[in-house]
Amino acid sequence: MPIRDGVYIAGAWSTGTGTDEFVIHSSGDASIVGSIQSASEREVDQAVRAAAAAFQKWSATPVEVRTAALRAIADGIEARTDELAQLSSHEVGTTIGISRAIQVGLALQVLRSTADAMDALELTEDFGAFVVEREAVGVVAAITPWNFPLHQIVAKLAPAVAAGCTIVLKPAELSSLSAVALMEIIDGVGLPPGVVNLLCGPGPTVGEALVKHPLVDMVSFTGSTRAGTRIGELAIKDVKKVSLELGGKSATVILDDADLARAVNVSLGSCYTNNGQMCAALTRLIVLRSQLDEVEELLTKAVAKFAPGDPFAETTRLGPLASAMQRDRVIGFIETGVAEGARLLAGGPERPEGTGYFVQPTIFTDVRSSMTIAQEEIFGPVLVVIPVDTEEEALLVANDSAYGLSGAVWSGDKERALAFARRIRTGQVAINGGAFNASAPFGGYKKSGIGRELGKHGLEEFFEYKALLG
Ligand code: NAD
Repeated sequence: MPIRDGVYIAGAWSTGTGTDEFVIHSSGDASIVGSIQSASEREVDQAVRAAAAAFQKWSATPVEVRTAALRAIADGIEARTDELAQLSSHEVGTTIGISRAIQVGLALQVLRSTADAMDALELTEDFGAFVVEREAVGVVAAITPWNFPLHQIVAKLAPAVAAGCTIVLKPAELSSLSAVALMEIIDGVGLPPGVVNLLCGPGPTVGEALVKHPLVDMVSFTGSTRAGTRIGELAIKDVKKVSLELGGKSATVILDDADLARAVNVSLGSCYTNNGQMCAALTRLIVLRSQLDEVEELLTKAVAKFAPGDPFAETTRLGPLASAMQRDRVIGFIETGVAEGARLLAGGPERPEGTGYFVQPTIFTDVRSSMTIAQEEIFGPVLVVIPVDTEEEALLVANDSAYGLSGAVWSGDKERALAFARRIRTGQVAINGGAFNASAPFGGYKKSGIGRELGKHGLEEFFEYKALLG
């Protein structure tokens, strides 16, 4: 299989000259789908210099031109929907329908809604005695994870490019082919050379060299809290602006007057979206002990619809995980749950048949909040059910997490649900199944991160504010 070019600098493609070659496997059967040679540190320097050289002109380019570029990229993605959806299903294991609807569909929504938000943004605010102007931050280093390859890139690229920044992208190794396909589309819309650059390569070498480069003004990172902490340290050392979108362990709380069947079904579906590989997945289900038997019955019925299968089959609802490493990590957590005394309601650590990276859809019940499976982000199809005795205890358990990314509340009384949601320490809370919205600010409290992505609030991260006095 030929090695794909994974380096795009100042409008030119090349094969990386770094030492690592990484081979990308299809999650469903472990076959090889492509391979990429890593960028070198010399290419990191070239890419950042290209972005720095392009900055002044791009930041002075009219907003309409910049937002038109985002809409053209969205059109280009839409035209290649099938191919891009297939790539996500190979690289991530996403079932093909979800690949079309979310892997591709969400990237389109983010590009278009960011263009709209930028068109509507007042760049100058007059306070009488002074005026505040928004100026693009400068050169952005964007480092992204593999779980939603296109969306994670676009959530940084769209606001950066719209604001007038230039950008160097370092996508996750596992999903480099999606990043390369996206860059081909970007190449086709005719942005000035250097506005968007791509470096495929490992985090600890290429990623760190990028973060440390003196011409980088801002680091925008999405990934694990472990890597984010390291990147934050490096960025702060040089006093660079930094935004971090990190892990999560989000809770659903079902209050006693909720539509129990609907709440349970939606919660399980959310937990298993993208086969559980989602930072905002609702992985903890907090229910009243008096309703536990009924909840368990509903879950047992619901989980039967999630038999693991070929991600390319239209009827499959649960695909494999992205890699053998992820699968083994998730199975390790399931074994820990069993060892710590949680009760298995469904699934378990035994591997399903086949060569792909499958795990069983797993549900633990009678889980205590202090258990490892209730505290650690698992990033696989594993739901933990935590019974509580009162609503106050439900709140304590919901907030008993190092993370603070998302959450959900269900109640027959919307005002009651809202009041409860306001006491949950997370960046988002869905009320009675409220849907994800590509214009709503997304990001975390506590160890889930610093800053917000998406919509107007995400756009603001890519500006400096300049006060002109008098
Ligand atoms: P990861 O942290 O291992 O890698 C993410 C990216 O960082 C990759 O591009 C990787 O190469 C790079 N990287 C790793 N170490 C680095 C270093 N020392 N310096 C520079 N770059 C480095 O995460 P992952 O396994 O790709 O993704 C899964 C994690 O991402 C989960 O914890 C998940 O919750 C989180 N995530 C968060 C959000 C969010 O918006 N909050 C969204 C998706 C995923």
